[in-house]
Amino acid sequence: MSLVVMKFGGTSVEDATAINRTASIVAGRVAAGKRPVVVVSAMSKVTDQLLACAAAASRGDRTGALALSSRLRSRHRDTAAALVQNPKNCATLQTSIEHEFDALDEILRGLAVILELTPRISDLIVSYGERLSSAMIAQAFRERGLNSVHVDSREVILTDSQFQKAIPLDALIEERCLLKVRPHLDAGLVPVMGGFIGSNEAGITTTLGRGGSDFTGALIGGALRAEAIEIWTDVNGIMTTDPRICPDALRVKVISFEEAAELAYFGAKVLHPATILPAVRRNIPVLVLNSRNPTNEGTRIISLAPHCKSPFKCIAVKKKLTIIDVVASRLLMTHGYLKSIFDIFDKHQCPIDMVSTSEVSVSVTVDSNDKLPAIADDLSKIADVKYEGQKALVCMVGEDIRGQMGISARVFTAIKHVNVRMISQGASEINMSFMIEEEDAEEAVRSLHAAFFQNPDPAIFDIENRLPAAPPLTPSTPSS
Ligand code: ASP
Ligand code: MG
Repeated sequence: MSLVVMKFGGTSVEDATAINRTASIVAGRVAAGKRPVVVVSAMSKVTDQLLACAAAASRGDRTGALALSSRLRSRHRDTAAALVQNPKNCATLQTSIEHEFDALDEILRGLAVILELTPRISDLIVSYGERLSSAMIAQAFRERGLNSVHVDSREVILTDSQFQKAIPLDALIEERCLLKVRPHLDAGLVPVMGGFIGSNEAGITTTLGRGGSDFTGALIGGALRAEAIEIWTDVNGIMTTDPRICPDALRVKVISFEEAAELAYFGAKVLHPATILPAVRRNIPVLVLNSRNPTNEGTRIISLAPHCKSPFKCIAVKKKLTIIDVVASRLLMTHGYLKSIFDIFDKHQCPIDMVSTSEVSVSVTVDSNDKLPAIADDLSKIADVKYEGQKALVCMVGEDIRGQMGISARVFTAIKHVNVRMISQGASEINMSFMIEEEDAEEAVRSLHAAFFQNPDPAIFDIENRLPAAPPLTPSTPSS
């Protein structure tokens, strides 16, 4: 049986039009002989709005929280009405939507009395987004002749109890998939499940962390040994770089898991790196596809990508970074010195992007954040500290740079006009990253893209749909 997991993100289910599009995409797969399991996100922006409801209620703004929830109620009610014409089915669906919102409002009222938002309550509130979208979409699919059934993900995705970022329990998920999902597939039905949500072994609702629906898709795909996991979104796949910076960015047809994980880590918004793991472990390809352009082939992410004649696959750029220089004036890199530095970042729960060390100094980069003064304060107890914001990290990823002579020379020649602050070639040997001023980021990316994607390997990059490059940045002429 050719089982595929099809995960649709928030924009692919944002309204009745998008949900209809999603239904035809799924129907197309069924007609092609596939057995889909559909995983959906909450409708776009709903998760943020539910979090806003929770925040308002917990500060005692009961009216504000209920007003926001009432807007969400109308949006779901209207979407359901547009999707389900059969009066009896529509009434059943509307009743269940009203029940869900009544329950949500109860929680919000309670929260406005207790005034304390715990991670556990936050997960419960935010879970309504996927609970509502999945139930509504399952019904919409049935209206369109798809034999679909709603499965509550909380009965399948079992996790530990770390609310807001729960860790899935693989063995139990596999068991539950066989018990709660597989029989529907065997009966020829299309299971529709909410992403992102799960429950601990006591049945208390948990979530997998923001953007967690991809993770749900990969977990289910892994547990059911799917032949592919499709991530349906609103872009044509992974691009060689951000098309807003380089309009001539190319779609990458195929990329390795390792490369995609590096990219995700460095800010390419397409996939969450952890989502990839359950698929990698079982060698299941992940496809990134566009629900607004379903005939487009997207990007295929696989364990071992074919050899590519171009050294790099992608250039990612991450802005709003700060470089912190720690100079060991006193302790001069004694044993345990680095550990004491990293312990300080750890204490402030501040993840580090890049590290470079010399005999006397350590430079690290972090996302600019409001904990920096406190971190600098702690660091200054063991060393001299300077920090500087408005930096950008450019990260070039490609497996085919492994062992290539002269590749750094080519990179730095392409951006010889840009001041480079820090360089790192990761131990993975598939990425080269460097820090520059934020204001130079766009220019640097364009120069690098022009240098490395002039004659791209047609087996790896979609050159047919290439758009013209951006005009070169001309110095502005003073107006007379
Ligand atoms: N709805 C959740 C979020 O916005 C999960 C997801 O869409 O992946 O984070
Ligand atoms: Mg997402």
